[in-house]
Parts: sequence; structure tokens; C-alpha cells
Amino acid sequence: MAGTQVRHRIGPDIECVSISLAPVSPLADPAVSSVNGFPVRRVPRWWRDFSGALLWGLVLWVTALWMSSGGLNDVGSIGGFMSTFGRLTGLVASALLLVQVFLMARVPFVEQAWGQDHLTRIHRVVGFASFNLMLAHIVLITLGYAATSPLGLWGTIVDFTLNYAGMLLAIAGTLALCMVVVTSVRRARRRMRYESWHLIHLYGYLGAGLALPHQLWTGADFLQSRTATIFWWSAYAACAIAVLVYRIAVPLVMSLTSQLRVVEVRRDAEDVTTVTVAGRNLDDLGAQAGQFFNWRFLGRSGWTRVNPYSLSAAPTSTTLRFTAKHLGDGSAALARLKVGSRVLIEGPYGRLHPGVRTRPKVLLFAAGIGVTPMRALLEALPQEAGQVTILHRVSAQSDLVLGDEIRALAAERGARYVVVDGHRMTGRQSWLPQRAAHLDDVAGLRQIVPDVAEREVYLCGAEAWMVAAESALRGAGVPADAIHVEHFAL
Ligand SMILES: Cc1cc2nc3c(=O)[nH]c(=O)nc-3n(C[C@H](O)[C@H](O)[C@H](O)COP(=O)(O)OP(=O)(O)OC[C@H]3O[C@@H](n4cnc5c(N)ncnc54)[C@H](O)[C@@H]3O)c2cc1C
Repeated sequence: MAGTQVRHRIGPDIECVSISLAPVSPLADPAVSSVNGFPVRRVPRWWRDFSGALLWGLVLWVTALWMSSGGLNDVGSIGGFMSTFGRLTGLVASALLLVQVFLMARVPFVEQAWGQDHLTRIHRVVGFASFNLMLAHIVLITLGYAATSPLGLWGTIVDFTLNYAGMLLAIAGTLALCMVVVTSVRRARRRMRYESWHLIHLYGYLGAGLALPHQLWTGADFLQSRTATIFWWSAYAACAIAVLVYRIAVPLVMSLTSQLRVVEVRRDAEDVTTVTVAGRNLDDLGAQAGQFFNWRFLGRSGWTRVNPYSLSAAPTSTTLRFTAKHLGDGSAALARLKVGSRVLIEGPYGRLHPGVRTRPKVLLFAAGIGVTPMRALLEALPQEAGQVTILHRVSAQSDLVLGDEIRALAAERGARYVVVDGHRMTGRQSWLPQRAAHLDDVAGLRQIVPDVAEREVYLCGAEAWMVAAESALRGAGVPADAIHVEHFAL
């Protein structure tokens, strides 16, 4: 097969080398449903609309239940007004708290419709909304009752705490939720180790659980109508089942039946390790190139930790592979993994996979270690020569991760492989290196990928870089729904 090396200039002193070779893949149509014998699963677009509508429908339904049990009947006095809206805010807060739990239960159709990134952002917004409504509920109900009670404000608080069923548990639940919210504020979050933050975050489940008894035992809106009682019990049960099934049972059964073990640990660079695991019937997992799993390696210290890594090679029926940069203790320890170690996984997760593609031309756009899922996508995407470009931004050529593999794959598949190296731009947030400071971000992108606006884009890299890259893509005319991102940090 004849090949050519194409050199691009994106400025007087920046040069990118790309390799372009003759086609090998007969698969050109993005609607194709199999590649290398591996099924490519499409994600129906209506899943997203449906799950979004379900969320708003839930809030409307809860409001309708409140109205039907005399919601606005008692707004004539200031006390009645506060109690009335105190009940409503409490109900919506509970509904959103359940949505919170459900969003993180990793229910496959929700996860595939939105992707972890999007879900995490929604989870954050819904979480803060639910928490604020819960605070409003506590304040309004207390003031509302105190306004009509001879006990006064403090007497009402004591009365609530001591004489209302489930109230002490609800206070404990509120404190647990306060802890989760305080540690989730970005500044606090950045100062904590991931494990500590994650452990505290699990108290959110406790908070939701502890709030339940006071709702079911004393909440007028839970008890007044049979429909409301059935609805709330079912909603709590559905969330509990979703968490137990998808966060615990499915991953455990999957890991045990596939009998995963480490079969190769390859040191790619001083700070990069590639791990291959093998097991049985792995195509039952339904994993696609570019998706990620949460990995836990048994038989070593730190086995309680679970870390997310994206597949850096297309999965096969017997192997899964990822490539990790050593950032902290967990990732550095990968280099010392023993062949034969047992592996537990959760996943596959994420929307960075061939199934979301809607356009024939593709740009795989990555920075640093973010190239690992792109390597897998390059291997698995159905493509004709010239349809796929992989654009990798690195500080220096010596930092190229999986460079040789990508070069060989690009040659085999007829893809373009472009490396843009150089130090980070100072003075402005840009996806380009300092050496291209004379170019604006969109012009730089268009010089390397002139038809970028027609491409489906897969994007992964460091947070700040991704913001600049996404803005350049949008500026160059790529529609938002043709850009698929994976963030390597929470
Ligand atoms: C969806 C996803 C896919 C990823 N894929 C890759 C990959 O293919 N290759 C790669 O090198 N890195 C990948 N990462 C990043 C990788 O998970 C972290 O670098 C790794 O977990 C760090 O763990 P540590 O113990 O070495 O470092 P620590 O010092 O414990 O953590 C360093 C930072 O890594 C992040 N982190 C740690 N543990 C987790 C966790 N369980 N979940 C989410 N973030 C965590 C936190 O932001 C933390 O501040 C991915 C991250 C995510 C969220």
C-alpha cells in the first residue's frame, strides 16, 4: 500500500505532519451496524427527549398531586401561606432528591442518552436546586406553623423535633445533605482528595433515606390521597432498586461471570502505563471503543479504590485495554500491577463511541492523555480513506502517547494523523500552542481541518484546553450536537 506524508503549515513556524494512505476499510456509511465483527450500537435520539420530559413531567405531577390535595386552599393568612408553600417546596425537593439518586444510578438508557459528563452537570444543578428547596421547606414550614401556634418559634422547633414522627431522622438526613453540598462547592471540592470527597458524597444516599420516614409518617401530602401514597412509595422503591441493580448487582455479576484478569502491563513511558485485561464473553458487556469503565484491581493495597479509564483499543470478545497517565497514587500503582490480578469493572459508560455518529467525516480531537479513547475510536470507526482526522495537541513530541500505534492505524485506515506540539499559550485561553499566538483559534483549526464544520467531532483533553477547543469548534461552524466530549476529571 502506497503512502504519503503530508506537511501542513499553520503559521510561519508551526508545522504538522500528517500521514495519509490508501483506503483499507470498506465501511463508509455511518449507519453501518458492525465493524470488525463488533456491533456498533446507535443511541436513539428520543431517549434524551423522553428522559428530559420525564424529569419535568415528574415536577408537574408532584405539583398536580399537591393541588389535588387542597394545595392552595389555605393561603389566606401569612401562616397558611408559608405552610402551603413550605409543603410544595418540600415535595419538589423530595422529587428532585430522588431524581438526583436516579441520575447517578447509571441506568443504561439514561446514561447512554446523556453521557456521564452531561449527567454529572445535571446532577449538580438538580442537587443544588433540591437542597435550596429543602432549606426553603424547613424555613417556611417552621415559620408557618409558628405563626399559628401558641408555642412561638422556638417552641414549635422543639415540638417538631420531639413530637413529630421521623423528625429526628430527617434532621440527621438534612445534616448529611449539608455535608454533601458544602463539599461539592467547587472551591472545597478542589481541596479534597477524590476518595474523601466521594466517601462524603455517598452520605447523599443516607440523607435521602433518612428524610423518607418523616415524609411518609407525617407528610400530609403523602398520606392524604391513595394515589400520592402509591406514587411516593413507588418512586422511592424505583430509585432504591435502580441503585441496587445498576450500581451493585450488575457490575458484580458482570465482573464475576467474565472472570477478568490482567494479562499485560506495558510501560509506555515513565508516566504512562497500558493495561490489558482478558476474560470470557466480553461482548456481552456491550462495550464500544472510546467508552470507559470504572476499574478495581484486587490483590493489592488500594483495591478498595475504583478509577475510571477509557478503552484505548477497540474491545474484543476476550480483551479490554486502557492506557493511563500516572497522576496520583492509584494510577502510578498500575505500573506495578501483577499479571494474573483479578479485576472488577463497572461499565461501559460514556457517549464517546461510534454509535453517536451522524456524519460521515470525523475529527478525533484530543490533548495529552485525552488521546487514549481516540486511539480506540480510530480503530473502530467505520471509515473510508480521508474521512477521519485525528488531531493531537501535545506539549512536546516526546509526550506523544500511543503515537506509534496511532501512526500505524492511521496508515492502515487511510486517516490523517496531525500532531500540534508546543507549550501552552500564555495571555489567552487557546487550544493552540504559544508558537501559534498570531493565529486565532478558529483560523488555526480551519487551516489544519478545512472541512471541520462538516465533521462529527470527538473531544477529550484537559479541562481548560477543552473549553478553548470546543469554542473554536463552535466558532468554525460545528453544531453543538455534533461535538461529543469526555472529561477526564469530575
Ligand atoms: C470518564 C473518565 C475517563 C478517564 N479515562 C482516563 C484514561 O483513559 N486515561 C487516563 O490516564 N486517565 C483517565 N481518566 C482520569 C483518571 O481516572 C484519573 O487520573 C485517575 O483516576 C487518578 O487517580 P489517582 O489515584 O492516580 O490520583 P488521585 O490523586 O487520587 O486523583 C487525581 C485526580 O484524578 C481524578 N480522579 C481520581 N479518582 C477518580 C475517580 N474515581 N473518578 C473520577 N475522577 C477521579 C480527580 O479529579 C483527582 O483530583 C479518566 C477520568 C474520567 C472521569
